[in-house]
Amino acid sequence: MSKVLIIGGGAAGMMAGVFVARNHHEVHILEKNEKLGKKVFITGKGRCNVTNACDTEELFPAMMSNPKFLYSGFYSFTPQDVMEFFEKAGVPLKVERGNRVFPQSDHSSDIIRALERELKKAGAKIHLHTAVQEIIKKPVTEFVTDSANTLESEATLTESGSDAGKGRKGKKSPDIQQEKITGVILTDGTFIEGDAVIVATGGFSYQSTGSTGDGYRFARELGLKVTDIAPSLVPLKTKEDYIPKLQGLSLKNTGLTIKNGKKVLYEDFGEMMFTHFGVTGPMILSASAHIGAKLAKAPNGELSVYLDLKPALTREQLDARILREFEAGPNKQFKNVIGVLFPSSLTPVMLELGGIPEEKKIHDISREERQHFIDLIKAFPFTITGMGEFKEAIITRGGVSVKEINPGTMESKKISGLYFAGEVLDLDAVTGGYNLQIAWSTAYLAAQAIQ
Ligand SMILES: Cc1cc2nc3c(=O)[nH]c(=O)nc-3n(C[C@H](O)[C@H](O)[C@H](O)COP(=O)(O)OP(=O)(O)OC[C@H]3O[C@@H](n4cnc5c(N)ncnc54)[C@H](O)[C@@H]3O)c2cc1C
Repeated sequence: MSKVLIIGGGAAGMMAGVFVARNHHEVHILEKNEKLGKKVFITGKGRCNVTNACDTEELFPAMMSNPKFLYSGFYSFTPQDVMEFFEKAGVPLKVERGNRVFPQSDHSSDIIRALERELKKAGAKIHLHTAVQEIIKKPVTEFVTDSANTLESEATLTESGSDAGKGRKGKKSPDIQQEKITGVILTDGTFIEGDAVIVATGGFSYQSTGSTGDGYRFARELGLKVTDIAPSLVPLKTKEDYIPKLQGLSLKNTGLTIKNGKKVLYEDFGEMMFTHFGVTGPMILSASAHIGAKLAKAPNGELSVYLDLKPALTREQLDARILREFEAGPNKQFKNVIGVLFPSSLTPVMLELGGIPEEKKIHDISREERQHFIDLIKAFPFTITGMGEFKEAIITRGGVSVKEINPGTMESKKISGLYFAGEVLDLDAVTGGYNLQIAWSTAYLAAQAIQ
């Protein structure tokens, strides 16, 4: 039986805790907050999109970084396994549009409570208000026996390892300098001994939930590489003053095209919302993950966006539709006719940008004016000038380099007994339940690897 310390009681930490404890190890979850799963609580707008009910191979295209690294993790603990886990733990689930899985209750708290119940049942100990300051390691020298070419490990070692191996048979040389975890030091100075440590401290976004990037510091201090981090799945800031006028307006079936000059960078279709500073919503958040780096490199740091407000209609069908409205009221003013085509809050902006005086009578509108208006409906323009910040990012891009980690076990290649799981790793995905799936799968793999 090993004594396993899990730093962080978020999605990955809780899931890892359940499986390590089920394997009869002594588990201690060290969580700095007053409760577990603070970020899980706000996921999916409080409903928790717990995974995506797609086939396992369909997870990989949803990954924004390092999909190959996740091969073992995803196949060891698939979305179906995640669903079975929660259903067995007493949370009935439902699958919504885009295979997004939610608790039937629409309450993320049910997911947290289920994990807490399973932790308790398996005997894991939970320490709240317990912040880890540092992870402690010691050197371990491994010796290659030249004749047999077998590797033996010497665990009780001196700092230098120079005395190790004395008095043993065979010709040995201190070939591989390894290190091993011995425990953690809390912020109050207490040392807790452990055979293994799972770092599940999350990313750097929504820091109010506890994910303040501590895991990156731990990794650096232990000599592991951490890639640059950036906010991802964030709202986008826009330039034009008519966008804030649309604040609160949500559009369901909308086409999105993002361009750098004439070059199309990204296209999608879906749901979005206007805010007081720009745009957000599922389609925009996903777009942010794709265009972040391109925006930074774009001239003036700006990219053009065009919304297709009627993607189900071709230009010709749209023209026919508008003509039908026009024919029904040839003596009406333009502003009183086009209202039927858009949500009421959008109409004033369409009038402002449409180039047709709003008082103009329908029978006075030229074909050219109508075509220009159709251009606006099929390519409603605005400019992206920036990305949202960490405090409003769903996910952190970058993190502990996956090159440092064994993809089959989540253990550090350099330091024995040191495992990572969840968002602290250089792994991120688009929206749809994929980011939690990363947390569940990596946690499961780390848990099962601990002997
Ligand atoms: C608003 C929002 C909505 C989201 N919605 C979804 C969604 O619907 N579906 C989806 O798949 N993903 C969603 N995500 C992403 C998802 O929440 C994360 O990917 C996931 O929570 C990562 O899990 P984690 O365990 O790695 O980190 P976290 O859940 O962030 O947990 C990390 C834990 O570690 C603790 N900790 C940190 N440092 C220390 C320390 N030094 N000592 C002790 N404890 C420490 C923190 O307090 C925290 O509890 C959403 C994110 C946000 C911000």
